[in-house]
Amino acid sequence: MTTYEPEPWRIKMVEPIRATTRAHRERAIRAAGWNPCLLRAEDVHIDLFTDSGTNAMSDRQWSALMRGDEAYAGARSFYVLEQAVREHYGYPHVVPVHQGRGGEAILSRCLLGPGTHVPGNMYFPTTRAHQELNGATFHDVIVDEAHDPVSEHPFKGDVDLDKLRALVEEVGADAIPCVSVAATVNMAGGQPISVGNLTAVCELAHAHGIPVFLDAARAVENAWFVKQREPGWGDKSVAEILHALCAPTDGAVVSAKKDGLANIGGWVGLRDADLADRVRAEALLYEGLHTYGGMAGRDMEAIAQGIAESVDEEHIRSRVAQVEYLGARLRNAGVPVVRPFGGHCVCVDAAATLPHIPRGQFPGQTLAAALYVVGGVRGVERGGVSAGRDPRTGDNRTPALELLRLAVPRRVYTRCHIDHVADSVIKVHQEREEITSGLVFSHEPPVLRFFQARFAPAGGESIFGRS
Ligand SMILES: *Cc1c(COP(=O)(O)O)cnc(C)c1O
Repeated sequence: MTTYEPEPWRIKMVEPIRATTRAHRERAIRAAGWNPCLLRAEDVHIDLFTDSGTNAMSDRQWSALMRGDEAYAGARSFYVLEQAVREHYGYPHVVPVHQGRGGEAILSRCLLGPGTHVPGNMYFPTTRAHQELNGATFHDVIVDEAHDPVSEHPFKGDVDLDKLRALVEEVGADAIPCVSVAATVNMAGGQPISVGNLTAVCELAHAHGIPVFLDAARAVENAWFVKQREPGWGDKSVAEILHALCAPTDGAVVSAKKDGLANIGGWVGLRDADLADRVRAEALLYEGLHTYGGMAGRDMEAIAQGIAESVDEEHIRSRVAQVEYLGARLRNAGVPVVRPFGGHCVCVDAAATLPHIPRGQFPGQTLAAALYVVGGVRGVERGGVSAGRDPRTGDNRTPALELLRLAVPRRVYTRCHIDHVADSVIKVHQEREEITSGLVFSHEPPVLRFFQARFAPAGGESIFGRS
């Protein structure tokens, strides 16, 4: 029996959601080209497509919105955000951006160029896309265990220092403008990096004059895992551990739509004053003036308040426990899930669930479509479709992990909703033999194809043999 403590919040405002019939959902998924991303949200009952920007804001965040200073230049709300970032993440220079990828775009433009190389712990789609757009080649230097869905390694987000060393020797430190590490690693299933490993990565990189930038979108969840799992950190607060994670790094690019408990926004935090000036100059062209970066003043207020709430121990314990509860229910029912459960998501091993669907017919995408039809629950593929094509060869990448990701929005769903999700996934798993066909592209966009791709069942009319 999995324990589940009462959520540390109560509901002050409600948003109606509705269940639909299976016949309605079959029509909807066909109209969406079998891609749950192209569904109308109204046709989804429980939406676990992403935890990004789907957070419920607190009463304090809503009241903070009213304090938003919408001055074009030098708004008070900018200084409130700057102060929150300095206090909780420790970076002296703060540049607001409209969301995480805005920060990735401008930092990549500042640092990268043709012929450069960027090592990282696995990859994030938008991060790698901007690195490649600026001519760099991305290299995955994560530990091997990250690619193994059943490995119980407590820090599957750790960098393999030997792989990093080997890359530095192979291409030379001069060709590596930065190391790009994430905490937690989304594509591995929300897996954390340890403080010890991140510190060692920074020492190694700095010894070669290479700066390290942290993707800190989910660094609070990462800090929670450090507190639970890394020897020596159990007595420290999540706020202290967050500082320890950021301390050895040279900067961070952050989407405030994740741990920041906001619906939109982001920021870049930096230590080097010259680099901060260059980033501000780029921000001016692509985001907005350096004191708003594409956000309204009220957004910056909501993020500042969200940052303070994110490190509250009650909040983060409850948040991760809800994800763990979903994972435990699936695991106890025999559904193959990535272990250990991540901070923001549970990932179903689609290749293990649908071994009869060839990898070329995208078992993860197929399972995502099937879950929607059966239960009205929306997840997202994290496998071959998301991995895209190698920009040089044009070949499909075939990642080791072929997953269906169920990402849980923060403070949005109750245990009953989570039970409905679990029941639906278990039903799909029990009836997996009825899924007789995978999917092939009918429209394949050139970049970040998973968002807008359309598919058709490879074996005829439907992915279900009988429906
Ligand atoms: C969401 C996310 C991004 C991109 O941020 P957006 O706000 O969606 O643009 C980058 N890295 C990670 C790890 C993320 O989860």
